[in-house]
Amino acid sequence: PIVLGIESTCDETAAAVVHGRTLISSVVASSMEEHARYGGVIPEIASRAHAEAFVPVVSKALADANVDFTDIDAVAVSSGPGLSGCLAVGVSGAKALAWAANKPIYGINHVIGHIAVTQLQFGSFPKDTLALIVSGGHTSLLHIGDVARHIDVVGTTLDDAAGECFDKVARLLGFPYPGGPHIDKHARQGDPHSIKVPQGLTKGKAGKEHPYDFSFSGVKTAVARWVESCQAVGRDIPVDDVCASLADSVAGVLVDKAMHGCEEYGSKTLVVGGGFTANSQLRDKLLESGKQHGVEVRIPDFKLCTDNGAMVAMLGVNLVEAGIRPSAPDFPIDSAMPMNVISV
Ligand code: ATP
Ligand code: MG
Ligand code: FE
Repeated sequence: PIVLGIESTCDETAAAVVHGRTLISSVVASSMEEHARYGGVIPEIASRAHAEAFVPVVSKALADANVDFTDIDAVAVSSGPGLSGCLAVGVSGAKALAWAANKPIYGINHVIGHIAVTQLQFGSFPKDTLALIVSGGHTSLLHIGDVARHIDVVGTTLDDAAGECFDKVARLLGFPYPGGPHIDKHARQGDPHSIKVPQGLTKGKAGKEHPYDFSFSGVKTAVARWVESCQAVGRDIPVDDVCASLADSVAGVLVDKAMHGCEEYGSKTLVVGGGFTANSQLRDKLLESGKQHGVEVRIPDFKLCTDNGAMVAMLGVNLVEAGIRPSAPDFPIDSAMPMNVISV
């Protein structure tokens, strides 16, 4: 099938056309620069940017693919999780298009899209695939029974996402938003063992077993305290070493838990998605650990890891192929869509 995918959960307005497992076109517009001076995404600004970009982005995706509406089998749109105002623009636009062209529409889960998109580079999921999602808003380990029908949450962060933790520490160190890439760059020049950074929930909380859950807010606090203690005695902050120690701790716990999960679930394949997978410490550790454990680690190219329309279109193709019923014309947006919901 040929599916048009539309994405507007945060600060990217994106559209793409996917045919089977082939990406035909992909257009991404971002309002990221408009948010930089506020140190984070401002929902009102992002929503207005979506309203302006929607028609140009979708028409360019169709034109680049050299298709028009009659050629398309379905429209898919991210209907959650994300910022409500942003979701409303994309979902309303997608509904209007599908209605006018008399095509089925699927409201899909953006996070599952981050996983589905790996199929464009690596093909369909083998049985018992595990997925590690690491982004600015999410950090979870999922078991993919059937990407169109059944996904289980194996573990998730109990507080901050890994990207959020990096962004917060980056702010403390004076880097502009988003700070993750700056931490990455400095970490490459630092000593990862110079500062003791706790690992995000390695053992699980007292009395409760969280073998696959994460917690990064304590990691951020520990780094903040350490930096403050330097400042208190007038010592220069060894920025490279702080970044390297943080990156080593965060990447370490993500990789350890993902590989343990693969063992327990008998998974020979780990797919990875979300904007944080651009992080070089995580990529290196994942590939190395995958080799040791005999697990094929599927990390897509960076442009497929960050928010895009291809991830939405690809999951749409999976839904059409599986014969899943399209969404009702009045389907709602859900800014807190649970991760085991694939489509609405
Ligand atoms: P979600 O997909 O959960 O809704 P999001 O859209 O905010 O969240 P993405 O755009 O997928 O998240 O990822 C952005 C996050 O990735 C930011 O926190 C950013 O700092 C982080 N990031 C990007 N590149 C790197 C890098 N090289 N190292 C570390 N973090 C990075
Ligand atoms: Mg973004
Ligand atoms: Fe995302």
